[in-house]
Amino acid sequence: MVDTQLTYSTNWPVVGHTAAISHLSRSLQHGRIRHAYLIAGPASIGKTTFARAFAMTVNCLSDHRRPCGLCRACTLIQNDNFADVKIIEADGGKLKVDQIRDLQTQLSMRPVEGRYRVVILRRFQEATTQAMDALLKTLEEPAPGVILLLTADTTDNLLPTIKSRCQSINLRLLSASLVRKTLEEQYHLKQDKAALLGQLSGGRLGWAIRAAADESMLSQRDTWLKQLEDMLGMTRVGRFAMAESLSRDKKGIAAMLELWLSYWRDVMLLSHTTVTPITNRDHDHTLRQIAIHVRIDDVLKVMTAIQRTAKYLDANVNTRLALEVLMLDMPRLRLMPAPPGASD
Ligand SMILES: [Zn+2]
Repeated sequence: MVDTQLTYSTNWPVVGHTAAISHLSRSLQHGRIRHAYLIAGPASIGKTTFARAFAMTVNCLSDHRRPCGLCRACTLIQNDNFADVKIIEADGGKLKVDQIRDLQTQLSMRPVEGRYRVVILRRFQEATTQAMDALLKTLEEPAPGVILLLTADTTDNLLPTIKSRCQSINLRLLSASLVRKTLEEQYHLKQDKAALLGQLSGGRLGWAIRAAADESMLSQRDTWLKQLEDMLGMTRVGRFAMAESLSRDKKGIAAMLELWLSYWRDVMLLSHTTVTPITNRDHDHTLRQIAIHVRIDDVLKVMTAIQRTAKYLDANVNTRLALEVLMLDMPRLRLMPAPPGASD
């Protein structure tokens, strides 16, 4: 019996991602539900929050509007306390085959209290090949009442057979203004702080929320950008010394490369036009100098090199060597300091 009163709402506890939400709530309304979804998109844009809201929607107890946000299932899922919704992620580095095997044992049992047993496999791009192989078995022979939600910052490393057995949901960066508005309204940040973090976040709400709570993230950002700008004036010897020193902070390098990529993306935008919403607005003066002096082909070359380095590091190559190669791909420039009173 279909309850004609039951509505799948698009009012999920998620910021942005409205197209993906509409799509899923329409599917649920028509009773179309898949056993596996691959939620992909850049880091810190809310993929896990999205997956959790989906888990609420399929398990919500309301007879009228799902997710209601108020019932037992909704509240427990929101707090990661619901027996039938599990989050699994890399246990120090990589998601391992043993974690998938444990999961398979659990999935062989019936749901405890929910309609669906939902498993959120976070950062699945970090799974080992053996773990991906093991999960394939579950994807090929789905147990009834089980929904797998894989999240991934990038799908490049995933086995094609994994991708083909999941329905893809691609989430995008949020707008700076939506991040700003959320920081003001939901996190009660002052207007100017919210505007700055909204801009610097590049559309990653999760990053902005962490930066609001942790001042050291902004000072770390300043350090990384200063190192990049200093390096442009250095010879090979200076660059190698910097690569050596940066390579000691293995955990931070991915975030640093992401920041550097956003910096060069700004250079590219400024090469095309002078009125454009760049991310690193506080470095406007230096970015404009680089945009004038570096050819667009070379800017693209640097961006490709940064992306390639991030991939190498993901594959565990020697960090110092990878950074040395990257440094040699950067142009050499003599930058003028910003005039007094300028933003950088
Ligand atoms: Zn509910």
